[in-house]
Amino acid sequence: MSNREIIELSERYLMATYARSPVALVRGQGVRVWDADGRQYFDFLAGIAVCNLGHCHPDVVAAIREQAGTLLHVSNLYHIEPQARLAQLLVEHTFADRAFFCNSGAEANEAAIKLARKYQKDRGHGRRTEIVSATMSFHGRTLATLTATGQAKVRTGFDPLPGGFSYVPYDDIEALADAVGPQTAAVLLEPIQGEGGIRVPEPGYLPQVRELCDARGALLIFDEVQTGMGRTGTFLACEQEGVAPDLCSLAKGLGGGVAIGALLATEETAESFGPGTHASTFGGNPLAAAAALAAVRTLLGDGILPHCRRMGAYLTSGLRAAVASHPAVASVRGRGLLVGVELAPGYPAAHVVRELLERGFLTGTAGEGVLRLAPPLIVEREEIDALLAALGETLSSL
Ligand SMILES: *Cc1c(COP(=O)(O)O)cnc(C)c1O
Repeated sequence: MSNREIIELSERYLMATYARSPVALVRGQGVRVWDADGRQYFDFLAGIAVCNLGHCHPDVVAAIREQAGTLLHVSNLYHIEPQARLAQLLVEHTFADRAFFCNSGAEANEAAIKLARKYQKDRGHGRRTEIVSATMSFHGRTLATLTATGQAKVRTGFDPLPGGFSYVPYDDIEALADAVGPQTAAVLLEPIQGEGGIRVPEPGYLPQVRELCDARGALLIFDEVQTGMGRTGTFLACEQEGVAPDLCSLAKGLGGGVAIGALLATEETAESFGPGTHASTFGGNPLAAAAALAAVRTLLGDGILPHCRRMGAYLTSGLRAAVASHPAVASVRGRGLLVGVELAPGYPAAHVVRELLERGFLTGTAGEGVLRLAPPLIVEREEIDALLAALGETLSSL
């Protein structure tokens, strides 16, 4: 089928929940993808921070092929070797002692919210039910996680929303200190806000949040669905702040392109999830777990994290040198290969995304005013140079 035919079929039969770009992608390899008409693109969005190892990484493909021919699915009523090995690997490389597997970021956050409330109740703190999150955050599209999401546009139209959520401005420790009290079960934050515009907090904010939570008896949940899996140059972004949460959600890049989410937890909090408290039919099934096991092993083993830090610095300094002085650019921010180019008022990011698509680059927005760049972590200098040139041309043509 051609682009046109696929687009017609898609527009005829799918619910219109996405404003899709007018291309149908049919093949990917490394940093490149091809559409149905055979045109090539450099992928600077990586399936929205999913394909961190690039498209069709051979190790992930081999693991999926092997597992698909052996055992696709058994339920969590039985023990599953790749799932147990994946949990071990995640525990060995993070603050966590245990893992629970699900299928998406929203589900991982749902699990975190449930576990935080149950943990407080189990300790006799039945009044501690509230989840404090930040404005401009993004935590998912289920009822609980869209309620935790501090953006009205995500919540509008879905009343009544579940109770027990409140919001504070991000990167404002005083506001958080005012909001966290004897009613608080947990504080839920992204270490860097992704969808809300690639917002990096001031150094010291996250350690202060940790101290505050400890002093007030609240748990700390980091949503690393977007920042985790090496995206910011370390396995978890919170490592760079020297802060460990009690709970941490992962998804997006975890499965190397296959749907899987995880909730990581300390031993103390994990105890509150016993048989019958939480479950997922597909969570951590043999196929998804085998893909994730290969993805995490490759990420940790192949020098990809230092490469991400080098390429992130190269991209950010390249942007600062090439386009930051352009009147359409307000700021360049981010960490590792999660980078935002904030545009000046009157320059919609979606327009820049369209122009870059025309020039053969897939990029995205983060909110209305920020161009989001999140290429595979294996991206090389030449590809970054090409993106910088295309962005420079695009900005000049505005
Ligand atoms: C994408 C995202 C989610 C939601 O993940 P889904 O897999 O789409 O449910 C949650 N939190 C953050 C920070 C995200 O970037």
